[in-house]
Amino acid sequence: SNDGPVYPDDAPASTQLLARAREVIPGGVNSPVRAFRSVGGTPRFMERAQGPWLWDADGRRYLDLVCSWGPMILGHGHPDVRAAVLEAAEGSFSFGMPTAREVALAEEIVARVDPVEQVRLVSSGTEATMSAIRLARGATGRSVVVKFAGCYHGHVDALLASAGSGVATFGLPDSPGVPASAAGETIVLPYNDVAALEATFAERGSEIAAVITEAAAGNMGVVPPAPGFTDALRRVSAEHGALLVSDEVMTGFRCSPSGWFGLEGEPAGGAPDLFTFGKVMGGGFPAAAFGGRADLMAQLAPEGPVYQAGTLSGNPVAAAAGLATLQRCTDEVYQRLDEVSEALAAAVTDSFTRHGIPHRIQWAGSMFSVFLREGAVSSYDDAKDQDAELFGRFFHAMLRRGVHLPPSCFEAWFVSAAHDDEAVEHAVAAIEASAAEVA
Ligand code: PLP
Repeated sequence: SNDGPVYPDDAPASTQLLARAREVIPGGVNSPVRAFRSVGGTPRFMERAQGPWLWDADGRRYLDLVCSWGPMILGHGHPDVRAAVLEAAEGSFSFGMPTAREVALAEEIVARVDPVEQVRLVSSGTEATMSAIRLARGATGRSVVVKFAGCYHGHVDALLASAGSGVATFGLPDSPGVPASAAGETIVLPYNDVAALEATFAERGSEIAAVITEAAAGNMGVVPPAPGFTDALRRVSAEHGALLVSDEVMTGFRCSPSGWFGLEGEPAGGAPDLFTFGKVMGGGFPAAAFGGRADLMAQLAPEGPVYQAGTLSGNPVAAAAGLATLQRCTDEVYQRLDEVSEALAAAVTDSFTRHGIPHRIQWAGSMFSVFLREGAVSSYDDAKDQDAELFGRFFHAMLRRGVHLPPSCFEAWFVSAAHDDEAVEHAVAAIEASAAEVA
């Protein structure tokens, strides 16, 4: 039922905190999407969370459909994860020396993702993709990287490049501060476009160190690879001696017990050479990883010449949180993610259809997003062709009704296994009331 409070748009405690934050933190936030720039209004400063619920500085309760952008797959404050974190912290916050916990986390990842024989633990998804690219360049002795428009791999220089006008043009920097030389080693291609991939490799194949792709794209909204696209990536990169890097930072351990790989299966022609992970495997703490075949990973220092390191890599508290989270990602958890996602998507379909709001829902396993447009989305150009202004109004209608969606129409809606029936009912009622309001 939606008989809960309808909050005012004005959030006095968050407004005050934002003003204070802006004095000392650029834009008042430590990651830009948190600032609500694309939906307008004041970002809510959060104070605590439990299960699927968040409480902000004004004491208002929200259903969380961000889940920290993916990590909180078991919901907030899972008692077993909390216990593991506290126990690890009793030992040490950080040794900067090897520990059994990080070995156990690496073993858990290797056991879940068949082609991954070894992983190196790092502290963020950005570090994971940055290091995977370095390893690919080191192992191949080449420098060019192919990525796809709309895929986000963190704020790595080489991966913050957008395409020029034509297909297969070398990238231009996406941000001041990214040297043209860094972006110029990156080729940006349209996602799901096998012909563009083949043309690029035909022209520059011998210079290409790696193709990096989101296993299933989640950063332009959810856009899964079209049938055959991953196979083509594998085939074309292998033909030219380039490595295939599958970025599972978002999809890993969420789409299935292993990730997108476990759903789609091994591409014809063999598994990707390298994988990157983050989010779920840190259980809400800074932990991420990259990994692959042992012979390739042996190129890394101290075994091999490719340098990579980190003061806090394998941090015991983060490793404990990640391990406890992964150990509790059971079949029942994935079943619940499916049920919750399907219930929310059905509510969107039902309400939006009834109120005449054009929409399109897309899936990667239980990961889904809602595009405010009609017709399939298979590329970034498609994803950009939607009603962002309407999304902003819908977002705020939901926020007033105590549901915190990702504040951008290019993001997946994240659910957790702690989203119980009360949470789902709350969301469904808010979706109906918000659709009625914005239609
Ligand atoms: N790769 C993918 C697919 C991501 O979704 C993200 C973050 O959203 C990253 C890499 C970067 O991870 P992080 O934000 O931990 O640096």
